[in-house]
Amino acid sequence: EFIKKYANHPEYKAPRGNVLHARSWQTEAPLRMLLNNLDREVAEDPANLIVYGGTGQAARNPEALKKIVEILLTMDNEHSLLVQSGKPVGIVRTHEEAPRVLIANSNLVPKWADWEYFNQLKERGLIMYGQMTAGSWIYIGSQGILQGTYETFVACGKKYFNGDLSGKLLVTGGLGGMGGAQPLAATLAGATFLGVDVDPERIKKRLDTKYLDIMTNSYEEAINIVLKAKEEKKAISVGLVGNAADVLEKLLADGIIPDIVTDQTSAHDPVNGYVPSGLSLEEAFELRKKDPKKYRDLAIKTIARHVRAMLEMQKRGSVVFDYGNNIREFAKEGGVENAFDFNGFVPEFIRPLFCEGKGPFRWAALSGDPEDIYETDRALMEAFPENKHMIHWLQEAEKKVAFQGLPSRICWLGLGEREKAGLIFNELVKSGRVKAPIVIGRDHLDCGSVASPNRETEGMKDGSDAISDWPLLNLMANTAGGATWVSFHHGGGVGIGYSQHAGMVILVDGTERAECCIRRVLFNDPALGIYRHADAGYEEAIEVGNKFGILDWRK
Ligand code: NAD
Repeated sequence: EFIKKYANHPEYKAPRGNVLHARSWQTEAPLRMLLNNLDREVAEDPANLIVYGGTGQAARNPEALKKIVEILLTMDNEHSLLVQSGKPVGIVRTHEEAPRVLIANSNLVPKWADWEYFNQLKERGLIMYGQMTAGSWIYIGSQGILQGTYETFVACGKKYFNGDLSGKLLVTGGLGGMGGAQPLAATLAGATFLGVDVDPERIKKRLDTKYLDIMTNSYEEAINIVLKAKEEKKAISVGLVGNAADVLEKLLADGIIPDIVTDQTSAHDPVNGYVPSGLSLEEAFELRKKDPKKYRDLAIKTIARHVRAMLEMQKRGSVVFDYGNNIREFAKEGGVENAFDFNGFVPEFIRPLFCEGKGPFRWAALSGDPEDIYETDRALMEAFPENKHMIHWLQEAEKKVAFQGLPSRICWLGLGEREKAGLIFNELVKSGRVKAPIVIGRDHLDCGSVASPNRETEGMKDGSDAISDWPLLNLMANTAGGATWVSFHHGGGVGIGYSQHAGMVILVDGTERAECCIRRVLFNDPALGIYRHADAGYEEAIEVGNKFGILDWRK
């Protein structure tokens, strides 16, 4: 009956309210979050169990999913479920404070770790791509990327513009699934925004969801609006239909040098993503199918022009950075020898946050009641009155972010702050101020949980970019500490062969057990980020570590 109501392929939905279907909240929580990941409001393609990020899945296939649901409905708190690439493979004896679910997704022995081999295994039904939060059951829809992008733009403002982006023009390409968060993130951060996308439907979607203010087909109109808005220090966003490489070249020819330039076109895939200049969308789609090799050649040529224009803008004074789409790599292939002359966004803006143990802390209200999230928002604003930046984000998020699936919230918190927030939430549950337990988790893109040399660990101070002992230690620390489910994945964000990362989610059910687990897990998890960055020689991390006394053993 439960399956019929909540897990009837492909209509998935998490139960709401405070009545248990499983034997305890420890199993009810992963059950609800798994089904929430596949909710039509949350997932890109529930019929294929795809949550986000290309082919990132929550479970291997409908049968495996059904079995996971059945096990979570009946398992007690003296056991833990083993999930191998989205399929249940065992139940082991553990104890009350151990994780209830142990997940490993998409992992391959390094010599075999490429897309080609992975896809062969996938075709044989042996493995699944888990992305980051798809296969670890803590994806919360576009709010996650919105906040991450906002955080990046704010950090850019702090580093280069005295913390003030008003009157600054930010130009970028790509308003797709993730890139579509850029206009709202930029205006929330105070900037004037111009985004270029070849596909008018993509821009229209951002307009419909209120992530974007104005859409136009006219370069002249777009320029007039943004230059006037920049002058008047108005945070307005304009989406222009066009090819990003062409538009950047035109801006240069017209002597318009933006303050900030980045890009989120799908350059990571030069065949099925990036659109070459000179082709209409229809022509591009046709050529992709008919002659992928020719398509790729054309795309690489345009990417090279695109990056040359970005480099020229950098030369003329723009702050330019790569936003994790590998565009520099393909430009280099296209003959741009100095493509890596501008940095990726992590070494530029995010690493200093990682050095404070800051990262994408997020939580969801298992009751399904938005009021529970507003209650947690208020509690955080009270608990951290000095954190003006966080308060601004929470206030704006309440106004502008529509919930998808179970109501949830994200905000970047650091070492000490995460533990404090967790304990406050536990009190809220205990006192009944929120109507059912909460789960707290995070993206795998965090300070101490990922090795990804082209992104999160690009250009580490000591050259340790590709060492993946760190996410493994993170996994072990969170397992030992008593997170409610933990995961270890390969290939998230940048694809098979390029990253390894760990996830964790912890149940906040108002109990003493939860309090003990929160004190360990929500402290240790960001502390791993401090250890990782202190070990690599980052002064900021050493300072924070010393402040918390967690590096005393080194003396
Ligand atoms: P997407 O495929 O949904 O959107 C890409 C958009 O780019 C599409 O709307 C497409 O029409 C447009 N486009 C393609 N070629 C273009 C061109 N030449 N000029 C103008 N527009 C063009 O992809 P997405 O989910 O939005 O992600 C975009 C890229 O950014 C990916 O490579 C992704 O990996 C990267 N990304 C990285 C991070 C990160 O590192 N944290 C975050 C977000 C996105």
